[in-house]
Amino acid sequence: RTVVIGGGTGFIGRSLCVAVEKLGYKAVSVSRNSGDRRNVITWEEIKKNGLPNDTVAVINLAGEPVLNPMKRWNKTFEDEIYKSRINTTRLLKNSVVEAEKRPKLWATTSAIGFYPCDKTRQYDEDSIPETKDYWSKFVSAWEDASVLPDDVKGVRHCIVRTGIVLGKNGGVIQNLKPSYWLGFGGPISDGKQYFPWIHIDDIVGIFTHILTNDDVIGVLNGVAPAITTNKEFSQCFASNLNRPAILCLPAIAVNAIFGSVRASMLLEGQCVTPKRTLRTGYKFIYPQLDDALKQIVS
Ligand code: NDP
Repeated sequence: RTVVIGGGTGFIGRSLCVAVEKLGYKAVSVSRNSGDRRNVITWEEIKKNGLPNDTVAVINLAGEPVLNPMKRWNKTFEDEIYKSRINTTRLLKNSVVEAEKRPKLWATTSAIGFYPCDKTRQYDEDSIPETKDYWSKFVSAWEDASVLPDDVKGVRHCIVRTGIVLGKNGGVIQNLKPSYWLGFGGPISDGKQYFPWIHIDDIVGIFTHILTNDDVIGVLNGVAPAITTNKEFSQCFASNLNRPAILCLPAIAVNAIFGSVRASMLLEGQCVTPKRTLRTGYKFIYPQLDDALKQIVS
């Protein structure tokens, strides 16, 4: 029984492959380059040959990293962010639809950016935003690309709206750790913006929960239940590293590094709760930030 994972070579994907194999499945990653790696195939191979014969589930995690400070925000980069998500999602969705024996599960990641930034509103999976900002329009298009045609029956579709993933070997922690070690860590701007985070073991846990529970369907928020602000995160991270968190990164610097569109992700936030995720029976391994960061820093 094979689980095909688009972007299975990435930060979340690598851990998900391990977890899926522990459950007794074979994990096959889809990548831009297979590089003769074991259990890695290319997008071209999927396009040409379709899914491996015994595929029971397909998950897409592929996407050009958005908050790469080395990349300037311009049209080319914006297109890459978009295409790397939408085109890979479409390709895998088509392979699900066209499979001789369709997999039982089609799961895709999206992001909490689906919910427009707001200082007061609390969102859960049932929230329908009345307005849309740049990222909520982007994420809506990403989710729309994953929707199966009405006449495709018997395939469960799940969308995980993922928050900021905290883990040892990638993501935001890898970007922030050097400056915190040097004592330059601290909140972004006034730090009052929400910081919807999730430990990597839990985002992986949510995907395996979906994989192993046939009754789970639809949208799940991939965020921890503990509502946290950017300031609370920076203080907790610094204290787990035994470092100060007194310097703040001013908005002007964030805008200069990332450009205003990406900077908005860091300067404004959204309060997101995992109501449906909990209702489907998922038990968080790290519901509290301090425990999550202790494990990461250890
Ligand atoms: P990674 O940055 O690790 O990237 C995942 C994979 O995407 C990579 O291994 C790479 O595979 C593939 N990829 C990268 N750039 C491109 C490109 N230009 N075209 C096609 N494929 C590309 O992502 P994460 O594991 O951190 O996240 C997985 C998904 O979850 C992403 O879609 C991300 O947007 C989403 N997400 C992640 C969050 C986080 O905090 N990490 C937060 C919210 C959402 P290869 O090089 O093998 O082709």
